[in-house]
Amino acid sequence: MMRKRIRCAMALLALSGTAALGQSSGQGAAALTVIRAGTLIDGVSEAPRKNQLIFLRGKRIEKVTDGSGAIPSGSHVIDLSNATVLPGLIDAHTHIFLWGEDPNKGGYDANILKAGIALRAARATYAARRALEQGFTTLRDVETEGAGYGDIEIKQAIEEGTIPGPRIFGATRAISTTGGYNLEDYAPELEMPKGAQLVDGPVEARKAARQQLEHGADWLKVYMTHRSWVDKEGKLVSQPTLTVEELKAIVDEAHGWQKKVACHAYNGIGLQRALDGGCDSIEHGLEITDAQIAQMQRQGTWYCPTISPYYGDWAPADTPAGKRDRARAAVHEISFKKALQAHLKIVFGTDMGGIPWTEPIAQEFKRMVGLGMAPMDAIQSATSRSAEMLDMKGEIGVIAAGAYAEVIAVEGDPLKHIEELEHVRFVMHDGSIFKNELAK
Ligand SMILES: [Zn+2]
Repeated sequence: MMRKRIRCAMALLALSGTAALGQSSGQGAAALTVIRAGTLIDGVSEAPRKNQLIFLRGKRIEKVTDGSGAIPSGSHVIDLSNATVLPGLIDAHTHIFLWGEDPNKGGYDANILKAGIALRAARATYAARRALEQGFTTLRDVETEGAGYGDIEIKQAIEEGTIPGPRIFGATRAISTTGGYNLEDYAPELEMPKGAQLVDGPVEARKAARQQLEHGADWLKVYMTHRSWVDKEGKLVSQPTLTVEELKAIVDEAHGWQKKVACHAYNGIGLQRALDGGCDSIEHGLEITDAQIAQMQRQGTWYCPTISPYYGDWAPADTPAGKRDRARAAVHEISFKKALQAHLKIVFGTDMGGIPWTEPIAQEFKRMVGLGMAPMDAIQSATSRSAEMLDMKGEIGVIAAGAYAEVIAVEGDPLKHIEELEHVRFVMHDGSIFKNELAK
């Protein structure tokens, strides 16, 4: 009831705003903005286009024409004729509530043990701004790491205009099993807080899914593997967590709500259970067998690799942890290349939060291209392909008529130098300019 009343009030406000604009411009609608794009990479087309005009009204793109199109007098022109214009980027795997996992700074545990909820919210606010200023206008944020439903509240704060930030698809608390998530390795007498909601059995699993969906989860996130190590032969092994039966209860519940399930799965038994349980996206997927790749093709499973985080903070080579760290990176590279060859639906993900939010989000592009992904394909993984996974096809991740006005620009050519995407100079989010270091 309350919600409806607010919506009515907002509609009235919007109407009166439109009427005022209509009177002054004589057009009866929001003012027209035209972006002159030197080069346009639209997020869908296989080739860039030169000299394009993007017509925007309010929060939406009205049309895209070539540079000879007429610009109505009185429209606001943004000149990006010396830049490459792209749709706002999408990072499909982030943690705005995670503040690094550097062992020297207390590792993962310090996030939960040393920071109160207000400090954590302040850090998430910083992360949201960081994403936006780097041209990431949408995040799929895959769990708050012990910060409850904070992601949905940060999202609310962004939507009501209290803080700047991207569009957020939040997964709230995430789900794992007893023995399946941090904090751990403390005295068994201590009841430690956990970074995820732990469940045992399909009944508890379904209940957790319902609780998270009730409190606004846009996606569910499930940990299908937890600890990893190398065995005597030097092969990576991961501890599985939920059973297929438990996962199926979650997937069934989520799909009933028209929501999807992202499964953290490194390899082995846990990854197999993730696929057999009907998971919608495999997160990390460090080591995927040929049979599992074929199953992902059959089931249309999305693949969200996260290469960069496995290259930081390696333990010394001759230690068990050091061997594990090197094995993770090595198998991840092989799986990524296999996935490319098999044309799996690869989406761009970084695990930011595990990587400090001060670092460039777009560093993952270099890794992807370095492993053989074509730059245009890498860009599409962070635009139209991620949009499709988020059920936002045609609305975000593309510059075309009808899409939201999410527009970014870089100075150089990212198809030649993918690192250009680490230097986004212009950001428009939902029709408002957030950053402009380029246009006059
Ligand atoms: Zn993650």
